[in-house]
Amino acid sequence: MPQTWRGLVCTSRTEEWQELIAIAKNRANMTGAIGILPEALAEGAFDGSLAEMELTLKSDEALQIGEVGLDRRFQDKTPLKQQMEFLSEVLELGWQMDRSVSLHVVGAEEPLFKTLERHSGKLPRLLWHGFTASIEAARHFTGLGGTISLGPSLWRPGLRLAGRLPELRNYPFAVETDWPEGWLPEGWKSEMYQTILSRHLDRLATAMDIPVNELEERTHAIGTLFTYQQASR
Ligand SMILES: [Zn+2]
Repeated sequence: MPQTWRGLVCTSRTEEWQELIAIAKNRANMTGAIGILPEALAEGAFDGSLAEMELTLKSDEALQIGEVGLDRRFQDKTPLKQQMEFLSEVLELGWQMDRSVSLHVVGAEEPLFKTLERHSGKLPRLLWHGFTASIEAARHFTGLGGTISLGPSLWRPGLRLAGRLPELRNYPFAVETDWPEGWLPEGWKSEMYQTILSRHLDRLATAMDIPVNELEERTHAIGTLFTYQQASR
C-alpha cells in the first residue's frame, strides 16, 4: 500500500484477529478492525465473544471494530433478534472504548435502525460498509451521525441507488473496495487491488460528478475518523 494511503482492514471472525493484529502492527497507515459477522456468531457464545472482543481491544489501542452487523440470510442460524442483541452490545462497547464500528447490513435496514435508535445520542463512530440501500436510508443513517461507504457492489446490474448517486454528494461518505470478498463487476476480479480501486474511483467520480482527486481527498479526510491516529505531541 502506498504510504499516502490509509487502510482500514476488517475481519469476519475471531480466528482472524491475531493474524490481522500482527499484519497491522508494522504498517503505520493500516488500521485493523476486529469483527464477527452474523454467520460466524455462534449461538450461546455471545458473552464469550464479547469478552474476547473487549480484551483484544484493550490489548491494542489502535484496533477498531468491524465487521459486525445484521444479515437476514443467516437468520436460520442466528435469529435476527439475537443478531440485534449482539450488535447492541458491540455498539455499547464501541461507545465506551471510543472505537469506530464498521457495519455489515444485508436485508436488515429496519432492524438496524431499531438497534441504532436504542443507542441514540450514545453511538460510536459508524461506517456502513458496502452501502447499497436507499437515499432515505442514507439520510436516516447520516442523520444519526453515521458515514456511508461506497464499494463496487454499487455496480451490480439493476441497483436503483446507482442512478441516484449525485444525491449522495453532500452526505458523509467514504470509498471502499471490499476486496477480495465483495462483489465485483465482471472482468475486475483478476485485477490487482490498486487497479480495482482506481477503476472504482473513476466510475464513482463519473457517476457522482466529482473529480477523482476530490473523491480521494474526501475519503482520506473521513479515514482519519475511522482509523487510529497517534496523538501528535
Ligand atoms: Zn460485509
